[in-house]
Amino acid sequence: MSMSAIVWFRQDLRLEDHYPLLMALATKRKLILVYVLEETKHWAIGRAASWWLEESLKAFQQSIKDKGGHLMIFHGDTEDVFKKLIKQHEVEELFYGANYEPEERKIEKRIESLCKSLGVAVHQFHHNLLYNPETVLTKEGRPFQVYTPFWNRTQLFQPPEEPLPAPHSLENCVKSGGEPISKLQLKQKWDLHQIPLVWEPGEQGAKKRLKTFVSKGRVHDYAHDRDFPALEGTSKLSPHLHLGEISPRAAWHACHSSLIYRKELVWREFAKHLLYHFPHTTDKPLKPEFEAFPWKKNQKHLKAWQKGETGYPIVDAGMRELWHTGWMHNRVRMIVGSFLIKDLHIHWLEGARWFWDCLVDADLASNTLGWQWVGGCGADAAPFFRVFHPTLQEAKFDPTHAYIKKWINEPLPPIVDHDEARKEALDAYHSIVAHRKKKGD
Ligand SMILES: Cc1cc2nc3c(=O)[nH]c(=O)nc-3n(C[C@H](O)[C@H](O)[C@H](O)COP(=O)(O)OP(=O)(O)OC[C@H]3O[C@@H](n4cnc5c(N)ncnc54)[C@H](O)[C@@H]3O)c2cc1C
Repeated sequence: MSMSAIVWFRQDLRLEDHYPLLMALATKRKLILVYVLEETKHWAIGRAASWWLEESLKAFQQSIKDKGGHLMIFHGDTEDVFKKLIKQHEVEELFYGANYEPEERKIEKRIESLCKSLGVAVHQFHHNLLYNPETVLTKEGRPFQVYTPFWNRTQLFQPPEEPLPAPHSLENCVKSGGEPISKLQLKQKWDLHQIPLVWEPGEQGAKKRLKTFVSKGRVHDYAHDRDFPALEGTSKLSPHLHLGEISPRAAWHACHSSLIYRKELVWREFAKHLLYHFPHTTDKPLKPEFEAFPWKKNQKHLKAWQKGETGYPIVDAGMRELWHTGWMHNRVRMIVGSFLIKDLHIHWLEGARWFWDCLVDADLASNTLGWQWVGGCGADAAPFFRVFHPTLQEAKFDPTHAYIKKWINEPLPPIVDHDEARKEALDAYHSIVAHRKKKGD
């Protein structure tokens, strides 16, 4: 039997701009193309993202088949899967793209030591980011915690390389093995009726979205339109970028005409780098004083927020958009987040968990950064005392009510009074600041 190499697919379910795959092909070895779903308890994949993953895997398996190859899919312990494959196929090399989530990094470490013990050479790549997190550091060699200097530092690097084309053929692959996708049991009970209509998971769907964004001139108008949820003003590439169905380099180059768009892509980088350097922030605030915040446990208010029944139309429209489509506009994510934290005084983690379950683009790095930003307790966060006023936000960003009308028919009475709730939040904030000062931190 000929010696072979494994290409381990993770959050990079694409054929274009896939360094590990191209490098593995260059070895001329027989390739084993593998995806393993190892379920982690910590931030286990949510329901909307599970639906997406199943669809994306189906599309990816088909694209590989169209090139003459075969994607083996397994459900279970990655180490067990690799042990068997390495033995069975006399594997000599492993190629894969790094993942920056804490549990995934633990899996990578286990696989790397397994390979070391079995004499398999490991090649890791950072092809799902524009910049390697080990390289974007302050002069003192520390990670950045503020976005603008992070962006400025990235601009001193060579510009991201042009994306690489997909391989012509995957004929030189092991052609069988793995489990049927249905065995992964990813699809769960969910109000799916609009999600499949709105989205096309997979690399083709991602390329179509990017093409439309560029060809219809949306990228040109992005700097203005991106703040208005009633407009198709943003690229909606987030779920595709999350699973690596398209590379950030591809989006970067296609959208060269918009500096603002490129800056948003670098927010994604910033989130990934922060998670890499501060893995505890998935559950704890980056600013530790916020651990003492007097959060309220109010199931009735939490449910009203989740169902879009707070009586604040922009909040309710956003929460309904999320439930029905698996996505929410960034401006509205900030508004509903601020409402949960600063009007209902409910812990940001409750919001992060709900988003995690409902978003098709649920991404541990961006969700953590987003929630801590809104809560004022994370990197580059707006100060806590800057509270979004839901009614003023609505007037400014949905002046014709076009967005609200799409999701809300009936006006509901507000569950809290915004001005009173804001005052209470600020009093609570001042109490933790005073507490910190007393402790002399
Ligand atoms: C509370 C909260 C939670 C969030 N949770 C997630 C999440 O789980 N997954 C996720 O991908 N994004 C998350 N975001 C960031 C942002 O809202 C989405 O990335 C964006 O709305 C996706 O839409 P789009 O692709 O049309 O973005 P575009 O405006 O077209 O931007 C292009 C790409 O840049 C990246 N990007 C844009 N804004 C941000 C940002 N603020 N932070 C990080 N990356 C960004 C995304 O990859 C996005 O696809 C969250 C934001 C907030 C405030």
